[in-house]
Amino acid sequence: MQDCVFCKIVERQLPSTVVYEDDKVMAFNDINPVAPVHVIIIPKAHIANVNELTESNASVMGDIHLAAGKIAEKLGVADKGYRLINNCGADAGQTVFHLHYHDSGCQAGAEDNLRYQKRLCY
Ligand code: 5GP
Ligand code: ZN
Repeated sequence: MQDCVFCKIVERQLPSTVVYEDDKVMAFNDINPVAPVHVIIIPKAHIANVNELTESNASVMGDIHLAAGKIAEKLGVADKGYRLINNCGADAGQTVFHLHYHDSGCQAGAEDNLRYQKRLCY
């Protein structure tokens, strides 16, 4: 979709550090990380947010979660723990209107967690 930052990343019109990619899903490092591991996981197809899921496109949620497990393994947080957070809509803090999950490694009790909760869990 024109003027969508994440579509431009999919199309390689904008640079990103890709950590995972398959035919339906892409994941890349957040440009402004709030934790040592902070990855954005997106469907390659443009879907604005959860409100735009339908019977015909909702299977991508399974694809995203399967990718999340692989990414967590790859980045070494699968056993230690990580969060998957989806913000849907402006009041929830969504700023990029292309469906995405924040996939963040956690450090129990660390300042990172506090910053993360403040920024992403309003
Ligand atoms: P939201 O606030 O919509 O849940 O999260 C959007 C996320 O996308 C933010 O954490 C922000 O840092 C990240 N982001 C915004 N623009 C870009 C970009 O151009 N490249 C990358 N890698 N991340 C971005
Ligand atoms: Zn898009």
